[in-house]
Amino acid sequence: MPARVVAVALPLPVQTTFTYRVPEALPWPERGARVVVPFGTRRIVGMVTGPAADDPALSLKDVLDVVDEAPLATPPLLDLAAWLADHYLAPPGECYRLVLPPGGIRASRAVARLSGEAAGEAGDPVVAALAGGPLPVSTLARRLEGDPTSRLSRLRREGRVVVDQDLGAAGFRLVQVATLADEVAPPTGKAAQQEVVSRLRAAGGRARVSDLVRDRPSLRGAVTRLAEAGLVRLHDERDTRGPEMLPAEAAAVHPPTADQQAALAPLLAAVEARRFEPFLLHGITGSGKTEVYFRAAERALGQGRGVIVLVPEIALTPLLVRAALARFGATVTVLHSELAAGERHDQWWRIREGEARVVVGARSAVFAPVGELGLVVVDEEHESAYKQEESPRYHARDVAVMRARMEGATVVLGSATPSLESHVNADKGKYTRLVLPARIGVRGLPKVDVVDRREAMKAGADPMLTPPLREALEERLRRGEQALLLLNRRGYATSLLCRECGQSASCPNCSVLVTVHQAGRTAQCHYCGFQSQAPRACAFCQGEYLRLTGYGTEKVVEAVKAALPKARVDRLDRDRASRRGEAARVLAAFGAGETDILVGTQLIAKGHDFPRVTLVGVVDADVGLGLPDFRAAERTFQLLTQVAGRAGRADLAGEVILQSHLPDHYALRLACAQDYAGFFAREMEFRRTMAYPPAVALINVILRSREAVAASQDAQALAARLRALAAGRYRVLGPARAPLARLKQEHRFQVLLKGGRASMRAAVKKALVERFGEVRWPGVAVDVDPLSVM
Ligand SMILES: [Zn+2]
Ligand SMILES: [Zn+2]
Repeated sequence: MPARVVAVALPLPVQTTFTYRVPEALPWPERGARVVVPFGTRRIVGMVTGPAADDPALSLKDVLDVVDEAPLATPPLLDLAAWLADHYLAPPGECYRLVLPPGGIRASRAVARLSGEAAGEAGDPVVAALAGGPLPVSTLARRLEGDPTSRLSRLRREGRVVVDQDLGAAGFRLVQVATLADEVAPPTGKAAQQEVVSRLRAAGGRARVSDLVRDRPSLRGAVTRLAEAGLVRLHDERDTRGPEMLPAEAAAVHPPTADQQAALAPLLAAVEARRFEPFLLHGITGSGKTEVYFRAAERALGQGRGVIVLVPEIALTPLLVRAALARFGATVTVLHSELAAGERHDQWWRIREGEARVVVGARSAVFAPVGELGLVVVDEEHESAYKQEESPRYHARDVAVMRARMEGATVVLGSATPSLESHVNADKGKYTRLVLPARIGVRGLPKVDVVDRREAMKAGADPMLTPPLREALEERLRRGEQALLLLNRRGYATSLLCRECGQSASCPNCSVLVTVHQAGRTAQCHYCGFQSQAPRACAFCQGEYLRLTGYGTEKVVEAVKAALPKARVDRLDRDRASRRGEAARVLAAFGAGETDILVGTQLIAKGHDFPRVTLVGVVDADVGLGLPDFRAAERTFQLLTQVAGRAGRADLAGEVILQSHLPDHYALRLACAQDYAGFFAREMEFRRTMAYPPAVALINVILRSREAVAASQDAQALAARLRALAAGRYRVLGPARAPLARLKQEHRFQVLLKGGRASMRAAVKKALVERFGEVRWPGVAVDVDPLSVM
């Protein structure tokens, strides 16, 4: 008889799966089924990744329970999770968790309580502690001296204490539904019962009880009496909790333009043939990419297959979401970070059971359990929001391409400013390039002017709001048109400088300066979230003359209000958008013309369509260029090109004003000219010379510790070992203090590898296993294909 042994992925930051024996009494768990297993003193819900070899040398523990009869995730998604763990050197449990429903695998909480027998025996400290009611075992351990495990197990054997596992799993919510019996003659004289019957009739004979009595809770008794009399049937139904969808007015569908047709032909052919083929749709802002996505989606749906549409951030792409709802109706589900746990759970099952066939969502929606996937769209594929910066550090665009390949689906990456990576892949023929070269219904591109801020300063003008920008804003107000003002830096001031000693206030946890918010009242660290009142005195010399320097979006709003007192000004940045629904509200108010000028960070640059915006002002076009980031020029070019595309989208001509200290920088010059090809050529030269992606691949290994010495020693040993393993296939840089040398109270060192990805990955894995073992790599963060090495 073959051994009944399985490998189980546990939701823990460990690099391996664990093996357990399956007792004869339990059904055999398929790959993808969940099981309850013992782990130390805990019980954990894990996922079976497959059968494992028995090792008589090991005394394996038994699986305690099999949770699922059938696997939860489909085989292709299980393959994808396995690929993710391997490709990103990430803990398998953290990867499998992504393809399971929310809360699918988790550690349980052991709760101890007294059984009936123990009443009256207070001598034992455990019994005494539990006399007041059940307690989690962890709490019990804290209250008692020492580990209560052995004492607890004795009490359990004696039947005096019971320990339950609280798995806390999210489940379906049931709702009570009332149905009117066929023949109903409501009892006369019972007004409440008659009211219930008439409400039920109005609702077509069936309704949720909660809806029925919402405005008059006192009717609930009448519902019960009607049920007792057999006039109404009551039963429980599975509820589907979901986000409130925007009303989706069906928009007119225009026939595709000649450009759209040319792009669609090869795309539809690939969908039709059920073929894996990646496309790069390079279409300038306003060229109608969405219509291309949707027509391809319709084709896939027509084949009975499903569609995933990824967007960088749901709240910032209301247009695409609304258009998808209008086009595909109830078969659309929108996944985003603001969903409550129950909503997320229910929507996962709607997709899993095939009720929702079109999934629109941010990064993690790439793992949505769409069966028979036909098409994946990655809109704004160049956006850094697709990269997850915590473990597993995946890039949703790359995962989308891999998933499509595994499932024989077609994948479209769309952008007005494709990432260099995707552009190179199209040049090499790995992706099929599709081009939409012209804006629809717009008179060409906006006029772009660059204002040299150095000149403005020499002339004694305010470099934040130079005279040309200020005049252009006044003109918009007079004409009743709108303006966007971009400054990609939030807060009020960027630092608080001591005039006595020249030091600036910094975060107590990180090696970065604090940003000042709320007109100088509070100080915030943008890396760890530390927040305090703005200091009144210098932390270094106790000097009291502190000066605010630099400025962010809050200060721009203040300056615009002072210069144009009649203007209605609003702001959108990360601080503002952190409140649920706030981003959508600000954008809707601006769209409705309730605001004249919207000041914001890159959040205002994304896919909105404001037909009355005729001016885009970039307050400081150089913001991103000063960062020690090899993508600084690319990000600046993308942002400026994108925000410039927001001007003049309807029948009004647009104007863009860029204020800059570096008006001759190529990223600025080429963004003004909307010259993608020119930028690509220039930037690739830099990446090749300096050996940065996509000329080479990168792996960054960060070693973190509260002890600087420990982190530094690990980093040195690791770098030395990686150099020894290199054999000319990659280069090792460092170890060095990471640019963010201290973050969240931890010291950070980094070892950066440049070269071929596969050999670097193998070497990093080998070196880390040698130093830390196969199970846990404490304080190590491996970033395969990091977006930045800051
Ligand atoms: Zn000082
Ligand atoms: Zn901090």
